[in-house]
Amino acid sequence: MATQVHSEIVSEIPPNLFPAPAQPRPKPAAKTKKKLIRRTDRDRSQLTRRSFQAAFLLLNVWVGGIFYFWVRQFEPGGAPSSWQRPAGVEGWLPIAGLMNLRYFILTHRVPTLHPAGMFLLLSSLAMSFLFRKAFCSWLCPVGTISEYLWRAGQKLFRRNFLLPRWLDLPLRGLKYLLLGFFVWAVTSMAADELAAFMNSPYGVIADVKMLNFFRHLGEAGAITLAVLVVASILVQNFWCRYLCPYGALLGITSLFSPARIRRNPETCIDCAKCAKACPSALPVDRLITIKSAECTGCLECVAVCPAKDALSLSLPSLPRPKLPGLAPQPAKLPVWAMAAGIAALFFGVVGFAKTAGYWDSHVPRAVYQQLVPHADEARHPMPGEN
Ligand code: SF4
Ligand code: SF4
Repeated sequence: MATQVHSEIVSEIPPNLFPAPAQPRPKPAAKTKKKLIRRTDRDRSQLTRRSFQAAFLLLNVWVGGIFYFWVRQFEPGGAPSSWQRPAGVEGWLPIAGLMNLRYFILTHRVPTLHPAGMFLLLSSLAMSFLFRKAFCSWLCPVGTISEYLWRAGQKLFRRNFLLPRWLDLPLRGLKYLLLGFFVWAVTSMAADELAAFMNSPYGVIADVKMLNFFRHLGEAGAITLAVLVVASILVQNFWCRYLCPYGALLGITSLFSPARIRRNPETCIDCAKCAKACPSALPVDRLITIKSAECTGCLECVAVCPAKDALSLSLPSLPRPKLPGLAPQPAKLPVWAMAAGIAALFFGVVGFAKTAGYWDSHVPRAVYQQLVPHADEARHPMPGEN
């Protein structure tokens, strides 16, 4: 009887109170160092990407210069100019692009004011779907200047700084909040409200107001710009990472992209060079596929990877006949294909809009003559105003 009670009590005692005598633990198998099979191809991704960046920056400077002289001719003391208004400036009006896209979706009519902004937005969205957020790292002039600044910071301080995770994460959410606000504001407008906004004096010369903002930078504007420049020198892609709503929209689009940076753990030697090189601070060396909306398709990680076939921008594995010893391989996107795709999307969309007569805003010159000299007086129409 006594023995039975004793055995019941013992059976209720958690076993870890009386651990079994320690057995000698088997030694963990030493991590075998993987053999590096060095890649032999010469990486041209960064030369190609930086050439695109420089060319697009120059294109923007050229377009901006022509626009400046076009605006000056309407202002007191401005010299007459034979320049036509370059519609490409509408790339700097992403909200107008978004409004026009909504107008087009609602009415199936191409808007007559600032249509180029809509076509440029469409080409960036298509780029993001096919090549991650490639617009940001291959074309965007703000992204390019941002990159020049953090590279200067790297030279100056021998490093860039990363904000602590508790600050980095909420700050990264800011750009999505801004995007959410703009999307909410645009989607809550009906087609006639959108048209009324675009046809208001403010809507017609929104591009001139944008130019004047930079021409007559006030104290608050100058301080904000200076803070952004300093922050961009210290932190890689500060504006893009935390504040750009356009990049947020492209990032969300890129989540649906079949093209991704993919790592092959069999050929990877775990050197972590890719993660160190990633301007978006993604842990490339610890993931198999980079799905993050922060990946800009810059290919910096691919450029520094020393191992053959370890890292690439690629499409998912293609179905193959099952052959013994042949694992399905992701279909790599070569740099030339990415570059050609980006160029084709940009020039294809712009070329289509131009040849179809959709590129330029149809505003009589007399309207500009009347509005441009008083651009600073044009105020943002309020809801309900026509
Ligand atoms: S994962 Fe590679 S391609 Fe993507 S942002 Fe980082 S370095 Fe660029
Ligand atoms: S760079 Fe990244 S993918 Fe390439 S071998 Fe090193 S850890 Fe692997």
